[in-house]
Amino acid sequence: MQFEPVIGLEVHAQLKTKTKIFCGCSTKFGNPPNTNTCPVCTGMPGVLPVLNKQAVTFAIKAALATNCKINQESRFDRKNYFYPDLPKGYQISQYAAPIAEHGFLEIETQINGNQTIGITRIHMEEDAGKLIHDPARARSMVDLNRTGVPLIEIVSEPDIRTAQEAGAYLRKLHAILKYIDVCDGNMEEGSFRCDANISLRPRGQKEFGIRSELKNLNSFKNVEKAILYEIERQTYVLEEGKQVIQETRLWDPLRNKTTSMRGKEEAHDYRYFPDPDLVPLIVDDHWIQEVKKTMPELPHAKQSRFIQDYKLSDYDAKVLTSSIELADFFETASGPLKDKKQAANWIMSTLLAMLNSKGISISHSPVTAIAFSKLLTLVENGKINATAGKIVFDEMVETKKDPEIIVKEKGLEQVSDSSGLEIMVENIINENPNEVAAYRDGKTKLFSFFMGKIMKKTQGKADPKIVTLLLKSKL
Ligand code: ADP
Ligand code: MG
Ligand code: ZN
Repeated sequence: MQFEPVIGLEVHAQLKTKTKIFCGCSTKFGNPPNTNTCPVCTGMPGVLPVLNKQAVTFAIKAALATNCKINQESRFDRKNYFYPDLPKGYQISQYAAPIAEHGFLEIETQINGNQTIGITRIHMEEDAGKLIHDPARARSMVDLNRTGVPLIEIVSEPDIRTAQEAGAYLRKLHAILKYIDVCDGNMEEGSFRCDANISLRPRGQKEFGIRSELKNLNSFKNVEKAILYEIERQTYVLEEGKQVIQETRLWDPLRNKTTSMRGKEEAHDYRYFPDPDLVPLIVDDHWIQEVKKTMPELPHAKQSRFIQDYKLSDYDAKVLTSSIELADFFETASGPLKDKKQAANWIMSTLLAMLNSKGISISHSPVTAIAFSKLLTLVENGKINATAGKIVFDEMVETKKDPEIIVKEKGLEQVSDSSGLEIMVENIINENPNEVAAYRDGKTKLFSFFMGKIMKKTQGKADPKIVTLLLKSKL
């Protein structure tokens, strides 16, 4: 039987506020354990939570950017459960009345082209603390710095059908949250986390099958791998004539498989009820309008503008707007240049290849956008040719030196003095009578032979445009 996967994603994104959602403690990552704490976020008796307005503003911004309808009135509920990282014994979350609903995101995949993935809801909640296990000494420690850090949870409709689509959705959502600057998107630090729900159904059947929920997916690649694994596992179970069990499974990135964490029987009854310490949250039109005014250009609009203004291809514009850092890098680097397309090529090949091979992100690029711009200007003005440009770039990566200084030190200035080049071209022609005859006989491929000779003589520094003109006329 042919099975069709059905996938829905839940994303927890940490909001970039300075302070926590219900108290004034810092949200700074990496401080000594339990130093970002106070009686409110450690759940002492008698304290009262006070909602952080900035967190709500960020949630509204995220809702607008994902085409959601914002509820004028939403509410905070208590989600009750016991765990050592949750000192109050409940998490404050929005359950029955979330801040926003009914949104969507447009994604693009190679196989299925453009698609719309529904967003069921966005709700606000506080994060729990962190347990640090120390098996060597048979003890666990708790760090409550993260307790009370503001999160939004973005729940997708079960509209996703492949691992590739899931990856595209997550990358798009991640890019948008960073564009609007409400989340730093750091997946290693847990600022953007995803759970994936997956089920299979016989192709053509309307009802969904029984799902498993995957946790511990801390990179886009892991999400895709875990979903592929889970689709295969469930296919195997169903083909055996058995039933998929509704359970939570953990992705093990070292062994490339998922393992059962807890079944439905162990699922909690959270006994949700409205938090009596918090009044309903009212978001009026005025607030929404104010947030709208701060909305930056989103990826899709930026992509269209890059195509229009810089004459980039659809593909180039899409890659260059895939993250706000890359888009900003491109605009800074190409700013002084006439040929924006050339800047796009250099970024997409030379720069991104270097970053990929070194495994560093654009925000940590050893070559800054300004330095890169200087390099591209040298090439555009004909001071150095493209080959020399690559040499200078490699040197910039290693030493972070100014490109002009590298050009001087290495003597890479392009030879474009045409009388000098003319003599060289004449010599090459005199020294290679056989190749000249063959070329004139129609073996035009030999052009690169002559070009190569000149480049060798000048150690790659000849201006290829001038050499081409000279060769064409002399040959
Ligand atoms: P829970 O709170 O138990 O995780 P939700 O109803 O909030 O349950 O659903 C969570 C996610 O699971 C949503 O993204 C939804 O689209 C997805 N989902 C629900 N049912 C299925 C299913 N049968 N197969 C795949 N995904 C599903
Ligand atoms: Mg869930
Ligand atoms: Zn606190």
